[in-house]
Amino acid sequence: MIDYIIVGGGLAGINFAETAFINNKTFTLINDTSHNSSLVAAGIYNPVILKRFSLPQDSKEHLDYMKPFYKAIEERLNIKFDFEIPVYRKFASIEEQNNWFEAADKPPLEPFLSTKIVHKKYDGLPSPYGFGEVLHTGYVDTDVLIKGYQDYLALNSNLINEIFNYGNLILHGDHVEYKNIKAKHIIFAEGFGLHTNPYFNYLPLDGTKGELLVIKAQGLKLDVAINAGVFILPMGNDIYKVGATYEWDDKTAVPTEAGKAELVEKLNEVVSCSYEIVKHLAGIRPTTKDRKSLIGTHHLHKNVHLLNGLGTRGVMLGPAMAKLLYDSIERGVPIKREINLSRFKLPL
Ligand SMILES: Cc1cc2nc3c(=O)[nH]c(=O)nc-3n(C[C@H](O)[C@H](O)[C@H](O)COP(=O)(O)OP(=O)(O)OC[C@H]3O[C@@H](n4cnc5c(N)ncnc54)[C@H](O)[C@@H]3O)c2cc1C
Repeated sequence: MIDYIIVGGGLAGINFAETAFINNKTFTLINDTSHNSSLVAAGIYNPVILKRFSLPQDSKEHLDYMKPFYKAIEERLNIKFDFEIPVYRKFASIEEQNNWFEAADKPPLEPFLSTKIVHKKYDGLPSPYGFGEVLHTGYVDTDVLIKGYQDYLALNSNLINEIFNYGNLILHGDHVEYKNIKAKHIIFAEGFGLHTNPYFNYLPLDGTKGELLVIKAQGLKLDVAINAGVFILPMGNDIYKVGATYEWDDKTAVPTEAGKAELVEKLNEVVSCSYEIVKHLAGIRPTTKDRKSLIGTHHLHKNVHLLNGLGTRGVMLGPAMAKLLYDSIERGVPIKREINLSRFKLPL
């Protein structure tokens, strides 16, 4: 009997697998390719929500936990995916500069917003009002992390690449059984795929589609990520990720002409050089209306658990949410109501 079956190999599933590993637990991860939010993500981590100048609850703790967590994976797997890079907010007016200073003076934001205006000139990106620098930011190359981690699991025979068939799951009071695998617990981490999960599909995971462009721009010389209505993230060799859109009605992970047009229009307002679109990607972020994660244990089945609702911030939230769920299962530590799936009523 192993300790865990994990369903889903995106940021949620992989972060739980790593948490199990560091606690000497055994597991098998089952993953298919039906959802791809983690693979298309830009992977930026930024403790501050710049649109509202707010700091999500426990942001600093999540960041502090995330950094050594990812570092340990990098070292063990001998891969590099966490890149520290400043995020510069481009100011469009004096008023925006003033708003920045006002926010930077607030105690919770003070460690994260620099009070110096940066007047650096970047080729291809006019910036007469300068930039504000967000501190302690970076990005995770999710493609390298996810594929590297899945390869590592495959090498150790801990990965099954197939669709998890819910009908084949048998729940025995003290363990679960799937095909020929017996485990003490099962963790569901299917991202937006939650909707096909008969144990948890009553939960209001509404999902927000996001589209992103990968461009090549030889005239743009950025060594920082820019936030200016869209973000522009340098990936090296004149390649940049540009995103992202937010769309609440369309629940297909298919790139659209409308999404592309929106990104191109916003990008053209910011850059003055020519560029070529190399890729156009789309995915569904597993979001909830209250913008909080969805973690916890099934109300009837004590061995059936959920790790979902990482929303727009899977890179920063993944490690911390995996730990909270793990501590609740193995150590009986209660999960706070705000992120506990039990905050939502069961269907009658
Ligand atoms: C355009 C875009 C940009 C983004 N940018 C950022 C960013 O800059 N920073 C950030 O932190 N976050 C970002 N995000 C959000 C981030 O991608 C999500 O928070 C995160 O990926 C969610 O991870 P997940 O593992 O819950 O879901 P997913 O990545 O969707 O993973 C779920 C996995 O489960 C598998 N699965 C589902 N059902 C089954 C089944 N029945 N059997 C087997 N496997 C199954 C799926 O195929 C998939 O592999 C972005 C998202 C998008 C779409």
